Amino acid sequence: MTPLLSVQDLNAYYGQSHVLRGVNLHVNPGEVVSLIGRNGAGKTTTLKSVMGVLRSRTGQITFGGQDISRLPSNRVAAQGLAWVPEERAILSTLTVRENLELPPSRPGGWSTERIYDAFPVLRERGHHPGSKLSGGEQQMLAMVRVLRAGPKLLLLDEPSEGLAPVIVQRIGEIIDTLRQSGMAVLLVEQNLKFASRLADRHYVFVDGQIVDEVPREQVDARREDLLRYLSV
Ligand code: ATP
Repeated sequence: MTPLLSVQDLNAYYGQSHVLRGVNLHVNPGEVVSLIGRNGAGKTTTLKSVMGVLRSRTGQITFGGQDISRLPSNRVAAQGLAWVPEERAILSTLTVRENLELPPSRPGGWSTERIYDAFPVLRERGHHPGSKLSGGEQQMLAMVRVLRAGPKLLLLDEPSEGLAPVIVQRIGEIIDTLRQSGMAVLLVEQNLKFASRLADRHYVFVDGQIVDEVPREQVDARREDLLRYLSV
């Protein structure tokens, strides 16, 4: 199968600091893949490199077989990638509906009605400003507002962070809904329980390198190893 996303020999730098060192990974169409590892291991930098947000990097990144390594981030997004950063980028003074309708829709993108049908709580909250939403609702809004562009691959940075367990479960259900609609997801996580419920495969980051790859069916047998990689 031709991967949807392929990253080959990715090296990334912040100034003099060599942060990613020879990262190779791929995501197949419709697959959910997690990047796990401690704080500072290089997971977010990998997402930023794929999106073209971090330009100081070498290596090859292809999407749907096309080289996107040198494209600016707006053109990367136009290819069908969407990035939901850790900071839950929503506009807190705008209503839920305004937040949903701000990103330009593209052919194949979700309409506001389709988003409301899939996530009815957003319809209920449609006229509430972003600032009045709970942390979980803000995360939900940040994740689904990018659907207007109809992405084929969603890059999600720590969607479970800072949320209560019951809300984390709800975020997991949203990711399931997106997967069922055919979307692939590349998920950065430190919450192994959450990541292992969702992902088909896990890449383990240590100090800017991928040191292990664990498919879903090996997670139970390798849980001790995975927890050791994540512990500080
Ligand atoms: P976290 O969960 O903390 O975001 P991470 O695995 O996503 O962890 P990165 O954010 O990719 O890690 O950081 C990788 C390394 O790059 C770390 O050593 C971090 O201190 C460094 N770094 C991250 N952002 C910058 C920046 N803007 N300038 C300089 N160094 C940075």
